[in-house]
Amino acid sequence: MHCPFCRNPDSRVVDSRTSDDGTSIRRRRQCTECGRRFTTVETASLSVVKRSGVLEPFRREKVIEGVRKAVRGRPVTDADLAAVAQAVEETVRATGASQIDANEIGLAVLPPLRELDEVAYLRFASVYNAFDSLEDFEGAIRALREERAAVAEAEAEEER
Ligand SMILES: [Zn+2]
Repeated sequence: MHCPFCRNPDSRVVDSRTSDDGTSIRRRRQCTECGRRFTTVETASLSVVKRSGVLEPFRREKVIEGVRKAVRGRPVTDADLAAVAQAVEETVRATGASQIDANEIGLAVLPPLRELDEVAYLRFASVYNAFDSLEDFEGAIRALREERAAVAEAEAEEER
């Protein structure tokens, strides 16, 4: 990358720091020509393809925004939402793709949200999967119950 001051193509790294969440590196650089310093941030490229076909960079805040409505009135903290968004980012980055459908992000929200709060999960799933009947809701609730029963059974099995 060119020096933003004098356009010289060469610079040297004077400091390098990984962000707390490990998803980016900030590099402090010094231009070898004019000696001025600037910062670059390096992240693995990840874009979201919106339904309209428009690309936008993946942002955790967008995920949180999308989930916030579903958790209204539920005992869910901002830290919980941040953890969901982090899990979503890890899931989509793990695919190794540099572009991901907005749809797949919705899918990636479902498992961590279900862990967090079943009511919020049902609300989100009803919008996301476009539940349009009571049967769809009942089906989702049945799946949750069956899963819980299976977990309880496995735990009872372990105690034996
Ligand atoms: Zn320069």
